[in-house]
Amino acid sequence: MPDTRGDRAVVLGASMAGLLAARVLADAYAEVVVVERDELPHSAAHRRGVPQSRHIHGLLTRGQHALEELFDGVTAELLDLGSPTGDMLEDIRAYVGGHRLQPGPSGLLALQASRPLLEASLRARVRVLPAVAFMDQCDVAGLTTTYDGGRVTGARVIRRLDGSAEQTLTADLVVDATGRGSRTPAWLEMLGYPRPPVERVRTGLAYASRTYRLVPGLLDGDVGILTAATPGHPRGGALAVMENDRFLVTLFGILGDRPPTDPKGFTDFAATLQFPDIHDVLHDAEPLDEPVPFRHPASVRHRYERLSRSPEGLLVLGDAVCTFNPIYGQGMSVAALQALALRAHLQQHTEPRPVGFFRQIGRIVDVPWSMATGGDLAFPDVPGHRTVRMRVLNRYLAMLLAGAAHDPRLGRAFLRVAGLVDPPQALLAPGVAARVLRAGLHRPSSAPPAAGRPARQLQR
Ligand SMILES: Cc1cc2nc3c(=O)[nH]c(=O)nc-3n(C[C@H](O)[C@H](O)[C@H](O)COP(=O)(O)OP(=O)(O)OC[C@H]3O[C@@H](n4cnc5c(N)ncnc54)[C@H](O)[C@@H]3O)c2cc1C
Repeated sequence: MPDTRGDRAVVLGASMAGLLAARVLADAYAEVVVVERDELPHSAAHRRGVPQSRHIHGLLTRGQHALEELFDGVTAELLDLGSPTGDMLEDIRAYVGGHRLQPGPSGLLALQASRPLLEASLRARVRVLPAVAFMDQCDVAGLTTTYDGGRVTGARVIRRLDGSAEQTLTADLVVDATGRGSRTPAWLEMLGYPRPPVERVRTGLAYASRTYRLVPGLLDGDVGILTAATPGHPRGGALAVMENDRFLVTLFGILGDRPPTDPKGFTDFAATLQFPDIHDVLHDAEPLDEPVPFRHPASVRHRYERLSRSPEGLLVLGDAVCTFNPIYGQGMSVAALQALALRAHLQQHTEPRPVGFFRQIGRIVDVPWSMATGGDLAFPDVPGHRTVRMRVLNRYLAMLLAGAAHDPRLGRAFLRVAGLVDPPQALLAPGVAARVLRAGLHRPSSAPPAAGRPARQLQR
């Protein structure tokens, strides 16, 4: 029995944030009940509540470290299950800011598990925790509170299968991890609390993705290709090699530009990207499914950290707090960092303090949110206020990425910041800034693409 903060914690939602929360709460509560609307599979499978799993899910370096802190040995397990790996700079052909990042060792691991495999691995590890019980095929209908609304005392749930009557799960703590459709803001309002202020950045992002069979030699040993959108060419795409000899291609457009989901239209869209690499691969590849779409109209941040009061016994995590623009691959990593913050919070306090906890996770969200929205607002048609600082930083970043076409140390510095390993200020460190300036002075007027590499065995 752990040194308990209470008898029971209830987690709403069993996707990434819910599983990570359950892992942490199992060390602090006698019982943890995870309530999920879907039937939870016992293998790596797509499910209705997580439609985004059909699209590329990159794990940032800091996120991979955080997962390892929470689930010791999970990286090795994913490798055993066939997840391809490589070096982020050496083995992923990355075109960012209109330049091919010069390959070179970065020391940053690219762990390419598909989203269903990653979630299934974490779910299997949470299932075996003695304190944890899953209640799947159950809808969360609302919260229960004390008479004065000062404390959340549980959740109201309805079993989907038999349509049975609503039941109440009493709890010392409820954690909302129901993702972008979270109803906590509405529940707070119904209880007489202010809703958290909301910030939105509308990019009108549209994804389409398709899976293909991987044949040896197809990618010259690379484990991925990234063609990031730029203001001058606002379409992008990515290719990720995954377990079971497959690769997944995700294409995207912004502001109403949607990749088609008919097979020919999908391939033709790939041909319009700024660099031909993804289209070249698709040309001869064998598709394993049909293209599937996803719309992501806006990044949405609920500013829970600005609440001065909130009921006791209720916390919120993951996409329910902040839904990032997925092209930056931040959501799962930020959820993992929030789970680590929850663990630290529970170690510090005999009982969770929602207002203080929200401030802690607000600080975690700050950096990835400002990096992502700064990137989005570099696109002139994305509505939003551009600060002078943002414009200057975007200009500097463009120079850095141009330098990274020749200098792998600049590419490495960029990937360490994008991967949340280093703070953004690291890009302004004297050693990096000097390289950016030097690269600017010596750059030929039209930079040739970085040299290709000889074919070699696929890394698994
Ligand atoms: C297209 C796309 C691509 C993405 N790519 C990346 C990427 O490359 N890298 C990355 O790190 N992140 C990526 N993300 C973000 C990532 O998917 C999320 O950040 C991550 O899943 C964490 O979300 P979550 O667990 O908070 O919510 P979700 O994953 O949305 O899960 C919410 C869960 O709650 C359940 N639920 C909802 N309502 C109820 C209810 N009333 N009752 C019971 N259960 C309920 C749902 O069924 C679901 O299981 C992407 C997102 C999208 C949309």
